[in-house]
Amino acid sequence: YIESSTRFPIESDFVISTENTIHLEVPKGSNGVLVKNLHLSCDPYMYILMMNIKVPQSLDVFAPYTPGSVITGCGVAKILDSGHPNFKKGDLVWGITGWEEYSLITKPEELFKIDHTDVPLSYYTGILGMPGVTAYFGFHEVCAPKKGEYVFVSAAVGAVGQLVGQFAKLMGCYVVGSAGSQEKVELLKNKFGFDAAFNYKEEHNLDAALKRCFPEGIDIYFDNVGGKMLDAVLLNMRNHGRIALCGMITQYNILEQPEGVNNLINLLTRRVRMQGFAALDYYPFYSKFLESVLPYIREGKIVSIEDVAQGLESGPSAFVGLFSGRNVGKQVVAIAHN
Ligand code: NDP
Repeated sequence: YIESSTRFPIESDFVISTENTIHLEVPKGSNGVLVKNLHLSCDPYMYILMMNIKVPQSLDVFAPYTPGSVITGCGVAKILDSGHPNFKKGDLVWGITGWEEYSLITKPEELFKIDHTDVPLSYYTGILGMPGVTAYFGFHEVCAPKKGEYVFVSAAVGAVGQLVGQFAKLMGCYVVGSAGSQEKVELLKNKFGFDAAFNYKEEHNLDAALKRCFPEGIDIYFDNVGGKMLDAVLLNMRNHGRIALCGMITQYNILEQPEGVNNLINLLTRRVRMQGFAALDYYPFYSKFLESVLPYIREGKIVSIEDVAQGLESGPSAFVGLFSGRNVGKQVVAIAHN
């Protein structure tokens, strides 16, 4: 465990083991499935599971990791053996699996079957997986966007952010993103079609940067970072604006807390709605999501950038890179071919 979130994770928190831990068949009488893992997803929430803290009951499907056991997280896998009537050998699935070559999944009913394989399978860790659901419902349901509104997205090149910006453009909004390097700023403008973008690390006054990008104020803020950026955004919200509290990556580490959020009073005076949400709540609507998003991908109206690390042994370094912004786009670990 990383005690009380006193630091961000480092590679030496992980141990790579070459033990042979499972039999390559489902035990007799079990309704589990045995899978070969193909792609693993690096997601910021996994850091929270590395701390010895109680997860709120509303999120209790995310049990903290037990030191010494296999890391779990979202991934794409192929069924090798099944004791469950809904799955058969050869099926492709995405959902919670292990950071290992093969996993025995005891609750296969929580997996999503992959029916569309005309897109890269790794997309089911990103644009068509949990981050995609987060971006799609977080933007459309929580932000309730209208054509022509002013939208701001932080960590905008990340797995969630790059999609939120593109959904907002498809809605006819004016979209600005922030990111942590010039390379990422260029991607926002040239690859993802944002109207403007800035490197937050080069702005000494975030309020001034936002005023420059949004002289008339912000209608929707999709917050991936919390901290000082959220505080500056509160000064720039328009009346009846909406803020989706998706993530607070700057505040996951208690020793490096950014300056507090001082500007909350603006929520009241400007009648702004600020709402937290969890991707999990929208999993029952996954088929509606696929129906909407797959055509956009096939027509090239939405693009996605992945940062693919090769091999299970590259997992720890890929994961810790999320907290310094080393990833450019969705961080995936490719561990086997289909
Ligand atoms: P990303 O792919 O965006 O990776 C994390 C990025 O965060 C980094 O690349 C980095 O980009 C940025 N970052 C890291 N540290 C800081 C910092 N101190 N200040 C500002 N930016 C920082 O991750 P995801 O798209 O997967 O997740 C984005 C957010 O959404 C996270 O906060 C995550 O916890 C949250 N989330 C919430 C869900 C929900 O259900 N509510 C579901 C999924 C994700 P840069 O170079 O731009 O700094």
